[in-house]
Amino acid sequence: MKRCIFQFSLFFSFLAVFNYANSSDCFDRNQLSHTLQVDTHLHTQPFNNEAMPTDKLMSILNKAGIKYVNAYGIGQTFAVKTACKHYLDCPNTPIKPSWVNDFRNLKAFTKHKYKNIVTKLSMSFPDLANPENILQRVIYIQNKYPNKFKWVGEVNLIQHALLSNAHEPATISDINNWQPFMAYLRTHNLPLTLHADIGLNDSPFEYIHLMRHVLERYPDNKIVWAHMGLSTEQSKIDTKNHIGLMNSFLKNHPNLTLDISSTVLEENFFSRDRTRYVALINKYPSQFINGTDFLAYENFDFEDYDHTLKTVSEIHKYINDEAFRNIALGQNYFNLLGLQQQTPRICKS
Ligand SMILES: [Zn+2]
Repeated sequence: MKRCIFQFSLFFSFLAVFNYANSSDCFDRNQLSHTLQVDTHLHTQPFNNEAMPTDKLMSILNKAGIKYVNAYGIGQTFAVKTACKHYLDCPNTPIKPSWVNDFRNLKAFTKHKYKNIVTKLSMSFPDLANPENILQRVIYIQNKYPNKFKWVGEVNLIQHALLSNAHEPATISDINNWQPFMAYLRTHNLPLTLHADIGLNDSPFEYIHLMRHVLERYPDNKIVWAHMGLSTEQSKIDTKNHIGLMNSFLKNHPNLTLDISSTVLEENFFSRDRTRYVALINKYPSQFINGTDFLAYENFDFEDYDHTLKTVSEIHKYINDEAFRNIALGQNYFNLLGLQQQTPRICKS
């Protein structure tokens, strides 16, 4: 009986969203907010188990106008007991991929009272440098909790900032050994979000061979490249070179999606070379998604989330209508998930 009520509530919540998505009204960019409606990159669990209570987080998202959420755990958790809240504060404390946060998300977000916000769960546990049991674990989760997890990530291929915390980047040989679980992700239509730094200020393309190999080895997988490979470690990178590189990746890999989440992008790159980044997004409007990359610590409030949301959404003011509909309103995200949802068309100005 309980299960039946739950299924009914799911049905009605689906209807509510469906009605929104099929509204015949057009979206007026001159009148309505430019901020993201679909947060495709939200870490609902931070590093050290001090997550914001679900009700508080959902109420913040609701107030901010979010309608869909991709709930990531975090691709790395502290491997030892520690008072650290963030890995950057404790460079010698080891981190390790774990599925603990995926189960915390399952418990926290499978059911909540905000019917106008749809939460999708993502598996953030895979250890890409030790891929032997990834497939076995993915199958375990999918069988035990069918239709709950629709995505994989954000997982670290190479995250330079984590190297002093004993992060083990994947090698070319490790990537070749991903084959069994990548085949599963393909057949089950599960996108994979990878954190893969391009390089550093002093050696801008130090790590690019890893992502290149992934895309060449698995051209039919839906791969999402977190933050377009950028980070604070390469804030001085020549943006012209970066844009040229992204252009060639997008052209050669139609199943690649670039994730433009994180305030770091607006603050260090988009604001520095707005015209060229906007032109790149307008050229490939079907290959970008956006998100906040917000870490939902329990002591954060609406103002924290809202500031992040507005910063990552700044670029939306400049992109064309097609890109705006696909990114800010979330059509590309729905397409990646294979959903029928249609976002409103943009009103002619
Ligand atoms: Zn992230």
